[in-house]
Amino acid sequence: SLDQLTEVKLERMLYPKPETLNPPRKDVLTITPWLAPIVWNGTYNIDILNAQFHQRGVRIGLTVFAIKKYTVFVKTFIETAEKFFMLGHKVNYYVFTDRANDIPNITVAEGRQMVILNVPSYQRWQEVSMRRMEMIRDFSRQHFINEVDYLVCVDVDMQFSDEVGVEILSDVFGTLHPGFYGAGRQAFTYERRPQSQAYIPSDEGDFYYAGGYFGGTIEEVYKLTNFCHNAMMTDRENKLEAVWHDESYLNKYFVYHKPTKILSIEYLWDNGFGVPDILKRRRFVAVPKNHNAIRNK
Ligand code: UDP
Ligand code: MN
Repeated sequence: SLDQLTEVKLERMLYPKPETLNPPRKDVLTITPWLAPIVWNGTYNIDILNAQFHQRGVRIGLTVFAIKKYTVFVKTFIETAEKFFMLGHKVNYYVFTDRANDIPNITVAEGRQMVILNVPSYQRWQEVSMRRMEMIRDFSRQHFINEVDYLVCVDVDMQFSDEVGVEILSDVFGTLHPGFYGAGRQAFTYERRPQSQAYIPSDEGDFYYAGGYFGGTIEEVYKLTNFCHNAMMTDRENKLEAVWHDESYLNKYFVYHKPTKILSIEYLWDNGFGVPDILKRRRFVAVPKNHNAIRNK
């Protein structure tokens, strides 16, 4: 329970000594050139991190959008989050929806709550996806800033299948896209038209980040979402929309505002890609969906 975890102290906590000459992972990059950790299984001790975050009494908001038919994903999403997401910490689930009546009543554990936020829907699925930036920005300023310390912003067509804890939290974090973690710059599907606000030149960019998983402190998420929304609006005035919608603007933001932590593919996987050797845990995986049946309806 929450009470048990708050009693965990760093004093006399016993654990294996970190080995300077024997790094825990040699098969993957675990730190960026700007010294941000890339979070992989084996690189951190969750007991130490839990004690640190409990000392600060940290509160975490998990935002998810369930617009139109995507309400069908909410039940599995929340139920699996109750098993695996930030257990023992204070969690607010923020479910943005245009169909509040279709959101099931789900009992959540002590210290956690589900908050339904009524928002408009848009006709095109691309616009539904992109408008998340504006809505997260607006609710950050008006509500989240008074309610939680960190936001984790994810897709809803997903389920948790292993632990996701405070090891992910940092000022501003992004997640490696499961389709591009091994790819070179030239293969990244960044926006390549110089006229777009999302444009990234072919000799820039570090990673290809997924649109469906980012977060950070409220202040940093505000800055990120505000940038992305404004860039989208400027493009719209010029009759442009970036090739991968909100994901393209997010990738642009991260080129010049480097994330302070990066989540590995463990945190965002799609079983359609199989299971590579480096992937020791699948913590959050895509729920297969029929794109045509569920979008634009
Ligand atoms: N979404 C929604 N209703 C829609 C389309 C999208 O709620 O009609 C939200 C939902 O949270 C979804 C996210 O936007 O997870 C991104 O869209 P989608 O998952 O279809 O993109 P993909 O993961 O297939 O690229
Ligand atoms: Mn999705």
